[in-house]
Amino acid sequence: MTVVAIDGPAGAGKSTVSRALAARLGLEYLDTGAMYRAVTFGVLRRGVAPSDVVTVGDLVDRIEISVTSDGVVVDGVDATAAIRGREVTDAVSAVAANQRVREVLVERQRAWVAARGGGVVEGRDITTVVFPDADLRLFVTASPRVRAERRVAELGGDVDEIEASIIERDRRDSTREASPLTQSDSATVIDTSAMSVDEVVATVVVMVSRAVSLPTTFVAGNGPAALALYRTVRTLVAIITRGYTRMSIEGRHNIPRTGAFVLAPVHRSYVDTPIAACVTPRRMRYLGKDSMWKLPWFGWVISALGAIPVTRGTADREALSRSVAVLQGGDPLVLFPEGERKSGPVVQPLFDGAVYVALKAGVPIVPVGIGGSERVMPKGARFVFPRKVRVVIGEPLLPNVPAGGRVSRSALAEQSAMLHAELQRLFDRAMVGVGWSYPPADQAVVGDATPSDQ
Ligand code: C5P
Repeated sequence: MTVVAIDGPAGAGKSTVSRALAARLGLEYLDTGAMYRAVTFGVLRRGVAPSDVVTVGDLVDRIEISVTSDGVVVDGVDATAAIRGREVTDAVSAVAANQRVREVLVERQRAWVAARGGGVVEGRDITTVVFPDADLRLFVTASPRVRAERRVAELGGDVDEIEASIIERDRRDSTREASPLTQSDSATVIDTSAMSVDEVVATVVVMVSRAVSLPTTFVAGNGPAALALYRTVRTLVAIITRGYTRMSIEGRHNIPRTGAFVLAPVHRSYVDTPIAACVTPRRMRYLGKDSMWKLPWFGWVISALGAIPVTRGTADREALSRSVAVLQGGDPLVLFPEGERKSGPVVQPLFDGAVYVALKAGVPIVPVGIGGSERVMPKGARFVFPRKVRVVIGEPLLPNVPAGGRVSRSALAEQSAMLHAELQRLFDRAMVGVGWSYPPADQAVVGDATPSDQ
């Protein structure tokens, strides 16, 4: 479990940094301030005074809050915008000073992280109370003046007035009795007054790569050395794979030149992965079993080659959230929507995961038919046979929901059905392209070429 804990005063750049860091690490992000704001919204909605310690303490269990990347819902009402408004902002310190509120929310924050196997968590007491043993603990701060200037740039207003209110909220948050905002000795302080967001993220990523074992390699995959290694290895793989399989590729223009997308090929053989790497010089990412990262140097190499560690079987959520994070970071990702290798000429039922992550990240899906790979290396084969391969790349399927929006079951089902139909069409075409009708799987293991293959 990887936990990055980030504390700091309002307006120091915590949220921006936490979000960017979460995307780079493939972890989910929890804004605990939004939880305190959500409870405050519920308190005000019921007409209760935020300073009424007993009533607020009794209420906290009954206010239903949901804080996700999609927004904040309180008692079934969308409160995403309202929790950032003046009324809630003025009242939140009083509610957050309530001991009972803190107990309940701290428990929920720990449960949230446990359910996801880690996360980037930001707030005021994360490094000191909620996760004092987090893998990385940071205190992100900036001078009140700089924080006020940033807020003015974002939301407008009078800089002197905002600076005064920031100083006042700092005072309240750091002098209250219950979990005051303090700099723990074990947290690393980052003063962002003179830094850009990119500089802060770059600094923190280096720290994380020193502090955390698994995502270290995940992060290393984005450096210039890693990209150079990818290019070299990909060129070699492409030369060998293309020559050996006399590969022909149709529809290359359908691969987006920039931006993220999901490459979704049919899956009949281990060689589908190097074949997928042949379709574009762009560095693509692949999911890999996390056990492959046991040796640090090997982990670095496969990360550089685009692999992303996931815990197979136990944590599908982790695979999904890392995939979404990678796509949001702008990298193309290869996902085999049929799941593990299948056999035969019929495209098997698709897992929803590939479509889900594409919709969630708001990126296109590029369907790919690979004809002939099952004869190059069928399931159970020890050899790689020199058989012809044809790749047919279809037009990108564009997401049918707005990016970042909720992915409804019907949108998922509709997109999955389209992808399935398109994959079958491309697969049929690719098989015709290599000039043979699909042999039964038991014959395929022999690796016998049919006459039309010659
Ligand atoms: O981070 P944000 O400004 O949205 O937080 C709103 C308020 O919630 C803070 O001013 C603070 O009073 C409270 N808070 C807290 N402990 C946290 C996160 C936020 O007391 N972990």
